[in-house]
Amino acid sequence: MAQLNPFAMAQEQLDKCARIMNLDPGAHQMLRVPARELHVAIPVRMDDGSLRVFQGFRVQYNDAKGPTKGGIRFHPEESIDTVRALAAWMTWKCAVMDLPLGGAKGGVICNPKEMSQGELERLSRGYIQAIYQFIGPDKDIPAPDVYTNPQVMAWMMDEYSKIAGKNQFGVITGKPLPLGGSKGRDKATAYGGMIAIREAAKVLGIDLSRATVAIQGYGNAGYYAASLLRSRFGSTVVAVSDSKGGIFRPSGLNPEEVLKHKQATSSVVDFPGTQRISNEDLLELEVDILIPAALEGVITASNAPRIKAKIVAELANGPTTPEADDILYRKGIHVIPDFLCNAGGVTVSYFEMVQNFYMYYWEEEEVLERLDKKMTRAYHTVLETSKKYAVDMRQAAYITAVSRVVEAMKLRGWI
Ligand code: NAD
Repeated sequence: MAQLNPFAMAQEQLDKCARIMNLDPGAHQMLRVPARELHVAIPVRMDDGSLRVFQGFRVQYNDAKGPTKGGIRFHPEESIDTVRALAAWMTWKCAVMDLPLGGAKGGVICNPKEMSQGELERLSRGYIQAIYQFIGPDKDIPAPDVYTNPQVMAWMMDEYSKIAGKNQFGVITGKPLPLGGSKGRDKATAYGGMIAIREAAKVLGIDLSRATVAIQGYGNAGYYAASLLRSRFGSTVVAVSDSKGGIFRPSGLNPEEVLKHKQATSSVVDFPGTQRISNEDLLELEVDILIPAALEGVITASNAPRIKAKIVAELANGPTTPEADDILYRKGIHVIPDFLCNAGGVTVSYFEMVQNFYMYYWEEEEVLERLDKKMTRAYHTVLETSKKYAVDMRQAAYITAVSRVVEAMKLRGWI
């Protein structure tokens, strides 16, 4: 069972990195476990008059570099170990981007699809009442994650502000625009990934205006990636997919038209003028850039030998298994690892906090320009680290992130 436990996996990844960088044993021990975790019971009055008690968590993994940051999931299969693992990954994601933040994550075991808006609002407010002492704009700043959205963030910010007796917009990010959300947040994850791809293409000598792209997943990350790569660089998006299957057209797809088709029919499948392709075959297409933007664990030891892309840009979290990583590395495929490639989202969340503190809001171009600078720097730092240690980009991202957190812990006198 240990292998299926996401937190055990996160610890294993850290252990591997600790061996390569010869990490101080005390620092290693501290980074293997969360600094703090809170388990709460949230009583909610349901619409039928009954009372239900939901279980919730908030894990603050490490705050050496600053207040902790990480989303809140509402999910029926939420578990403390998932929250711990996600909090650890948020720590590395913020550190690799050199944000002045630590990592956290929260969750509530519930099924939002079976709850009314009123029940969801009472649960969101109840969760904040339960964790109020634990969070704050300079302590721990939540954000949306699976099955939570800007409306949920608005209720949570409002509840926190009511208890505090003053408006506290900076306590949470991913808010709606009229309540202190940031412009550019919708496309931030894909935009950050696109910058990382641009830099990788320069290093590898790939001309993006002639490059072909296949994308698995056509949600927020996948759609914007398709749209941005085509509009900014003139790349040819030859295949995209969703949970119902994929479409392939060697001469290229128009991402906006595909989106309209998906909105009208609920899938990209059967978009006129395309061939059907399975999600499995899409991954093995002869393209320059492959973007997993849907699920975890899709590139495994069994299909990795057949992956032909020159760049694998991981917008999804955890799409590549550790065995597949080794295979891709030996094949010379350049993998841009998830917590670097998809860090555009948390970076713009950080910009949202900054704008909230200033009470002054930037135009979208300014947000994206700042994201470009941060991502470009992070990509090249990780690339240099991979050369220095002769390791793949994932290990290099770990080494970069862990070194920064260790440096902060040392300077603070913790270790
Ligand atoms: P989303 O819900 O908007 O879209 C997910 C897409 O994946 C949908 O098109 C869905 O049809 C497709 N999908 C689901 N099951 C599939 C399957 N079996 N095969 C192929 N496609 C399938 O989600 P999103 O926000 O785009 O997130 C996608 C990935 O990116 C996730 O791993 C997420 O953790 C990661 N990510 C997203 C953000 C963000 O800001 N949106 C930030 C960091 C990481």
